[in-house]
Amino acid sequence: MTLASYASDPQRSRGRRHADTPTPHRTEFQRDRDRIVHSTAFRRLVYKTQVFLNHEGDLFRTRLTHSIEVAQLGRSIARPLGLCEDLVEAIALAHDLGHTPFGHAGQDALNECMADHGGFEHNLQSLRVVDQLEERYPQFDGLNLSFETREGILKHCSRANAQALEDREPGGVGQRFLARTQPSLEAQLCNLADEIAYNAHDIDDGVRSGLLTLEQLEQVPLFEGYRRAALAAHPTLGGRRLLYEAIRLMLSAQVHDVIDATAAALRSAMPTDADAVRRAPPLVQFSADMRERSNTLKQFLLRNLYRHPQVMYMTGQARQVVRELFDAYQAQPAEMPSAYAQQADRPRAIADYIAGMTDRYAGREHARLTGTRLLDVGVA
Ligand code: MG
Repeated sequence: MTLASYASDPQRSRGRRHADTPTPHRTEFQRDRDRIVHSTAFRRLVYKTQVFLNHEGDLFRTRLTHSIEVAQLGRSIARPLGLCEDLVEAIALAHDLGHTPFGHAGQDALNECMADHGGFEHNLQSLRVVDQLEERYPQFDGLNLSFETREGILKHCSRANAQALEDREPGGVGQRFLARTQPSLEAQLCNLADEIAYNAHDIDDGVRSGLLTLEQLEQVPLFEGYRRAALAAHPTLGGRRLLYEAIRLMLSAQVHDVIDATAAALRSAMPTDADAVRRAPPLVQFSADMRERSNTLKQFLLRNLYRHPQVMYMTGQARQVVRELFDAYQAQPAEMPSAYAQQADRPRAIADYIAGMTDRYAGREHARLTGTRLLDVGVA
């Protein structure tokens, strides 16, 4: 595969934090991808909530299937633009490793528990997983990933956290949040592929769950246009196949839109290499029209799915599980494994321990420690 001049070239990587010898048959970014796939945190994603709690149905997206869909969309967009597909895949598969159980409800609750102890932020936690928390190598903590993969994983970061990263690793992955520069094109692409993926699969899961109806979706111009296109091509189509065909057309259109709009932005900015990309404005983008239609879909999903009373009820319960777990470990640290209980920074150790839990493990631990069952999350 030929990389464009502005792509991230694995042979010109800024390298790893711990010196490592190259291998003959894989590039540095392929090695990163492989390390991520073999990590413990990656396997846990299968039992972590995306929107619907893991136990609510076997066919809803989990963090794992979501991450695989982001990688697929990212690779499809990367190739025609001449970007590094392997780096896109590595970032996409790792982008949600730091997510708590119970989706955003879990992260919000943990952030509140950690308010006086530096807070909790899932992008920073994803970096913490690959830099520190994975225990797989004899010589160092973490997975020792290359700079470019770590840069892509740290999608957002507060100024205070960026400064703390910069103090520990001058010129490292925290710097761009202080200098207000951009990450690589591959990292920018993963952000957009994430948005394309969740907008599409949340429509599917929303309808599957019965919380959204096809009639409601008629209010959403982006979806409705492709539903009509699917019907024009297949007038007798209905039900689930019509839904899938409309989503398929919508996904294809968004992929092609990003490729065309980004190619045009690259032609006008003409970055000479990956570092010129970092100094330029954001270049991976939708066209203005698609950006607006995608925003309208996001607002629809927020109002009608993420804030649906049934989802809100479950997320309320999930927040309580996380808060009460945190309090229980504060009161009885010995209930955690000794590696966590013995750490000097106890609140951070508790946050790391809870963040690593799957939905059902958190539910079981909560039931064990409090004697109450809030969520029926695989509590046997
Ligand atoms: Mg995501």
